Formats: sequence, structure tokens, C-alpha cells
Amino acid sequence: MIKIGVLALQGAVREHVKCLAAPDVETVIIKKVEQLENIDGLVFPGGESTTMRRLIDEYGFFEALKEFGAKGKPIFGTCAGLILMSKHIVGQPEGHLGFMDMTVQRNAFGRQRESFETDLIVTGIGDDVRAVFIRAPLIVDVDENVEILSKFNEEIVVARQGHYLACSFHPELTDDHRFHQYFVDIVRESINTKVQA
Ligand code: GLN
Repeated sequence: MIKIGVLALQGAVREHVKCLAAPDVETVIIKKVEQLENIDGLVFPGGESTTMRRLIDEYGFFEALKEFGAKGKPIFGTCAGLILMSKHIVGQPEGHLGFMDMTVQRNAFGRQRESFETDLIVTGIGDDVRAVFIRAPLIVDVDENVEILSKFNEEIVVARQGHYLACSFHPELTDDHRFHQYFVDIVRESINTKVQA
């Protein structure tokens, strides 16, 4: 059984649990640092990145999460989760967990377009992926080791760097589970590679 956690300090947790469902996947709602030891992959949900960061510090998650990523365990961040994973944030002196070599801009669509939906081509997932944007961030710059999986109006909205996957919108708010299954495949691969090593 593959065990995938959803960080449950704040934000849209239950929706991710639903999307991760697969016969060989057990989903774990992560509320305590010790739970990280028993999981193979982790999802950072959407919500509010500054609040999430505050809770990460308050509950002593910061170092444990850094270690989790450094061990090669896959992490998937959506929206606020993407912001947590980025090395740089426009207008802020430093990023949060800084897993991915990229720069994000928070609330990048301005007030007029706080939330909207569209269909996007996402490499490796599909050419008709429904994307729900809610006060979404954009990835404004990536290093060459970051793979761009999708753009919306020339702006990067999905990126992958090895075992890290990040997305500006909310795939967990649709009935299409392909995005999560793509992440589950990353987790499966990481387990198989470890077994062979
Ligand atoms: N704007 C939020 C932030 O900066 C992210 C919004 C979301 O996760 N839906 O954290």
C-alpha cells in the first residue's frame, strides 16, 4: 500500500483525499510531525500561504518537512501549497520551504479576476484539464532544471522539478482525478527506485 499524506494545518484538505483515492493508495491526514515518518508522499493544499507557514512553524513542521523533501519523497503543492514550495516570492525577502528553483507571484491575477475557470493543456496529464483559479499565484521565473508542464496566457501555472510538483490552480475541486493520479505515479516511481537502489 502506498501512503500519501495531506498536510492538514489549514486549507482544502478533504478534497485532496477524495482525488488521491486508488486501490493501492491509503491517504493520511497529517496533523502531527511524527506522521511524516510513515508516508511516501505529501500534498500541500490550497489555502493561505502565510497562515500555513505560521502554523508550520507553530507546530514544529519546518525542519521535518525540509528533511522529508531532501530524502527524495515526492511533494505536490497546489495554489498556496505551490507558494510554500517556491524558492523565491516576489516582494518578499525569502521563500518558505524553497524546494523548487523558481519565483512565484502571489495573487497574480488582481482583483478583477480573483477566481475563474478554464481548460488547459498539461504535459503528461491531458489537453483538456479543467483549471479552477482562486486568488492564484503565477510562476514568473524558473531555473533550467524546472520542467514547465502548463502555461495559461504565456504564464507558467504547472511545474515539476524531479519529485516536486506544483500547480497554481485547484485540480482537487473538479471530478477529474488525472492530476492526482499523475502525482500518485511519481510516488509509485519513487518507491520503486528506492527498492532497486
Ligand atoms: N492567495 C493565496 C496565498 O497567497 C493562495 C490562494 C489559494 O490557495 N487558493 O496564499
